[in-house]
This record gives sequence, structure tokens and C-alpha cells, in this order.
Amino acid sequence: MGNETTAAAPAAPPDELPRRRSLSPSRAGDFLTCPLLYRFRVIDRLPEPPSPVAVRGTLVHAVLEHLFDQPARGRTPEQAHSLLAPEWERLAADEPELASLFGSDAERVAWLAGAGEMLDRYFTLEDPRYIDRLDVAPGGEIRIVDYKTGTAPPEEFEARALFQMRFYALAIWRSQGQVPAMLQLMYLGNGEIIRYWPDEADLLATERKVEALWRAIERAYLQRDWRPRPGRICEWCAHQAICPAFGGTPPPVPDDLPDSLADVAVPETAQDAIASI
Ligand code: SF4
Repeated sequence: MGNETTAAAPAAPPDELPRRRSLSPSRAGDFLTCPLLYRFRVIDRLPEPPSPVAVRGTLVHAVLEHLFDQPARGRTPEQAHSLLAPEWERLAADEPELASLFGSDAERVAWLAGAGEMLDRYFTLEDPRYIDRLDVAPGGEIRIVDYKTGTAPPEEFEARALFQMRFYALAIWRSQGQVPAMLQLMYLGNGEIIRYWPDEADLLATERKVEALWRAIERAYLQRDWRPRPGRICEWCAHQAICPAFGGTPPPVPDDLPDSLADVAVPETAQDAIASI
């Protein structure tokens, strides 16, 4: 895969950028998609029941991660499949509520088989015996890879996916002083790959967009005004029952919020942890 990377131009040393732990790529994506969803997740911190699709994504990620713990020659489809059941058992032991995802054993078996199909699709996209998880090419270029277990996004989500990739690239540039050579999203649902080769001008534009987004989020916070923006994401939203776009009423905004959004701890995904700036 190293031959698919492009040499990164040497980056300027990181500028002084205020640390904004309250904005992560995923949560920024939430606000862009629907400000009210952002509020439910970040301000109200409402729980969201686990969904089979989301948990399958977690499982496939975990299997791929452990696959790369193996010596290169051991990263085979058989090895990946052999990791499925133990990884699922580990996840279920860590989060006992996952047991309620399935109505029967047959459902669970079919769900696991679906995860196995995604692993098979992964092997049609690349051969992990010849790539490195670290994704740093011998020349030092950084390649960022993310795996999605859905299909490649329809237009509405593609913009969000690309924005998040740019955000990751920006965070890496600012934290490590190097523009990543390539970011790659692999959709294991349908075998599509989206690749993005960032450059400094692009990332500077992304930085301006992140700054503007931050100001919009802060304004919403200060005005206690988070509007619903219905779209396809509503199909997956766990909060329809309390969303005005579906005839519901949101709970009152908590009255003990910190004065500044910067003091609100934002729930992050593991991936966000490396990308927050
Ligand atoms: S149901 Fe749709 S509009 Fe309402 S909060 Fe969820 S994503 Fe936003």
C-alpha cells in the first residue's frame, strides 16, 4: 500500500492553536448534520441503546486491530475469522447489555456471519500481509486508514465523511507537524474506498471551517438554541420520540451547565481521541 501514498510536503511547525477539547470530529459532524442531535449527545448526554449495526462495526474494528497484532504472514482470512467469536465474547463481557441485542441464538449467529462477510470483503480490498498498521511508509509519510462497516455514503453523508477526514488530517498536522500523505476510508459493506490526499492549503481551509463551526456551536450553546435538522440521519437517530421534527418535546436544557462550552466534557470515540484539537 506504500506505493499508493504520496510524499508529504514538509509542514510548518504547529502554530499556536488553542486546545479545544470540546470539539471532536464526530461531534463536529453531529452539529453539522443536526444541531439538536449534537445537543442530545453532548449537552444532555442522553444514552443511546446499542444497535446491531453499530456493534458489528465495533466488532469488525476489534478483529482487524487484533489481526494486525499478528506477524504479517499470520494475517490471513482464516485467522481473522477465528478472532470473531472470542472478540464478540470479550465485547459482550465488557458490556453485558449487548446480550439484549438479539432475540435468539439464530439471530446472533446470523449477525456474526454478517461480520464475517465484512472481513471477507476487507481481504478483497487489501492484503494485510503486505501493509503495516502503523501506516507510516519507509519515507515517513503518514497514511490514515479507517474502516466503515456500512456502505459508501450517499451524497448527504459523503460531505460529512470527507469533512471528518480533513479534520483528522488537520489534527495530525497540528499535533505532529506533518501533513498526512493520504487518508483512506474503506467501506466494508460494499467494498468501496474513498481516498483523500490532503495538502496544506486544503487543511488551512479546513481549519477556518473548524473555527467557524466552533463559533456556531458556541453561539448555539450561549443562546440555548439547538435546532433540529431532519434528514436521512433521522432513520438512525435514537431520539425521535423527543424531537420536535417528529412531534416530540425535548427535555428542558439542564440549568447547571458551565458558563462556557469549553468546560463541557465532550464524549469522544476512541478515534476522536487522536484527532481532537
Ligand atoms: S430525529 Fe432527526 S432532526 Fe431529530 S434530533 Fe434526531 S437527527 Fe435531529
